This record gives sequence, structure tokens and C-alpha cells, in this order.
Amino acid sequence: MNILVAGGAGYIGSHVCKMLNEKGYNVIVLDNLSNGHREFAKYGKFIPGDISDKKLLDIIFEHYNIAAVMHFCAYIEVGESVINPYKYYENNVSNTLVLLNSMLKHNVNKFIFSSTAAVYGMPEKIPIKEDAPKNPINPYGKSKYMVEEILDDFDKAYNLKSIRFRYFNAAGADESGEIGEAHNPETHLIPLILDAALGKRESIKIFGTDYETKDGTCIRDFVHVNDLANAHIKGLEYLLKENKTDCFNLGSGNGYSVREVIEKVKEITNIDFKVEEIERRPGDPAYLIADNQKAKKILSWEPKYSLDDIIKTAWTWHKERYNGRTR
Ligand code: UDP
Repeated sequence: MNILVAGGAGYIGSHVCKMLNEKGYNVIVLDNLSNGHREFAKYGKFIPGDISDKKLLDIIFEHYNIAAVMHFCAYIEVGESVINPYKYYENNVSNTLVLLNSMLKHNVNKFIFSSTAAVYGMPEKIPIKEDAPKNPINPYGKSKYMVEEILDDFDKAYNLKSIRFRYFNAAGADESGEIGEAHNPETHLIPLILDAALGKRESIKIFGTDYETKDGTCIRDFVHVNDLANAHIKGLEYLLKENKTDCFNLGSGNGYSVREVIEKVKEITNIDFKVEEIERRPGDPAYLIADNQKAKKILSWEPKYSLDDIIKTAWTWHKERYNGRTR
């Protein structure tokens, strides 16, 4: 069965491709390599290109009998989205529409979409359920929620069935050490802490120590990238079998503070490094923890990796990354 993975050379996309490939699916990766890595796109056929290229999409859909499309190509930096919203609405919304329209043209009606906990904005209740109010507070979160709404309308109008996964804090790497998190610039907590451990940066800065949490720092729900990948396989199976549109939170259901994560990295790497406490980063909710019961119940998904596993696998990858394997 052929699965088109748009953005399959990126962090989460490549882990999903590896697992799809292991499960016997035939993977076709479409990626413009703007943020992805050519060497990550090795678990199927690689087609360089953009989801906004209608002609290329026609060729792909005509040539391959695509059973479903998974869509991971998006810009993901919250701060940048505030400064340059056009970039976010153009790529994350407008280009996604081109892809969806091409699917409809070629009678492909199964779609798996990467959404985000950012659709909830500043949540009122923790843990967060899927039906909690959606109040995204930045263009990144809004762009993801717009696509979610478009997908609901496309189901009603065109019978396009989709699964939207709202990721909490994706982290960790495949045990092989072949693929992992490699953003440029990096803004995510765990790779930045690992950079500090490796001496690639002078310190790790904690953004805010006056939150109403147990140690004053933000609490996040870290979920291993292979747990996310596994959820995509389950979501695909569900879509193929049940043919129903739905959305699911993907988080471990556990919260750890920024300070706890830093301490855990020190313990696992056995390296001490400088920690600086600075002011809050605008727009950070104190708590983001998923209620993951829906994915557990409907998809029989069970996250398997602990925070220790996340940091250990991320550490293995992170050291490898600086071995010249990728940028
Ligand atoms: N954070 C931090 N220092 C950093 C990067 C992140 O203190 O250098 C904090 C950030 O304020 C948030 C948490 O770590 O509370 C997770 O941030 P990240 O950007 O990794 O993910 P987000 O929760 O924004 O999706």
C-alpha cells in the first residue's frame, strides 16, 4: 500500500516513515528540504519538491496509487510566526489547501494531519481534553487550527476523511541513532539543554521561574517521537478501516518542569553545565499536559517511552549529530 508522506525528511515525518516502512507500507516522501534533511528520507522513495507544486502533485498521484497522505510540512517556530505571519499562513494553510485540492482531484480521500497543542492557547483546565476551547494565541497555532476547521468542512462537503493529531512536546530520537531532532535554528528545550551539556552553548536559559507551579518553571508533556510515529500507524489503520474523521491529543499524560528536565539531563549525561534564570518567554502557558484517554481508547495507542528514555535516545542522537552526519 502506497502512502505519500509530505515532509517525510523532517524530524517527526522521518520517524513515521521508518515505522511505516518496517510495517510493510510503501513510503513515498515528498519534501522540499527547506527544513528537512536528505539523509532522513531513506525509508522510501524520495521526491524533492513542494506541496504547492500542482504539476508535481498530479504526476505523483497519477503515477502512484496513493491510499493515504500524511502531512508533516509546516513551519513550527512560534516566535517567527508572530514576526512573519504571512510565511505561516502561506505554507501551513494555503499550501496545504493545494495539497488537499490535488488529493480531491485524484480521488484520494484519506489524510493524516500534524496539529499541535498550540491550538488550545492558554488552557483553562489541565489535563487538556480534545473538546477544550480552541484559542490559539499566535499565527503558528492559528494556522494549524485553520487547517483543522478546513478538514471538518472538507469531510462534510467532499467526504475527505482525516485524522488530526495534536502533538504535545515531541522529543527523543529513534534508538538507531540514524535520525533525530535537528532544527535550524533550534528553539526546543531538550536539544538546547543537550547543546549545553556538549558545550555547544554556554548555558541553558530557563524562561521564567515565577510560574504557579511546584518549582516556578513551566510544566510540559514530553512525548517520544516513536510513540508519535506509532500513533500515526494506528491512526492510518483506523482511517483505512473505519473511514472516520477525528482528532486526538498525543501526549504522555505526564508533566515535567523545565527544571526537572534540566536535572534529568545532568543525571543521564553525567555532565554539569551552567543554568541561567531569565524572564518569561511571552505566550508560554504554565501547564501543558495532555489528556490522552481518547487516543488510548479509540486507537488502542499506548505511549511506551519515559522521560528517561526520551533523554537517553535524544542524547545518543545529539552526539551523533555532531559527528558530521547532518547539520
Ligand atoms: N524553555 C526554556 N529555555 C529554552 C527553551 C525552552 O526555559 O531555552 C522552556 C519554554 O519556556 C517552555 C518549555 O521550555 O516552558 C518548552 O519549550 P519548547 O520551546 O521546547 O516547546 P513548547 O512548549 O513551546 O512547544
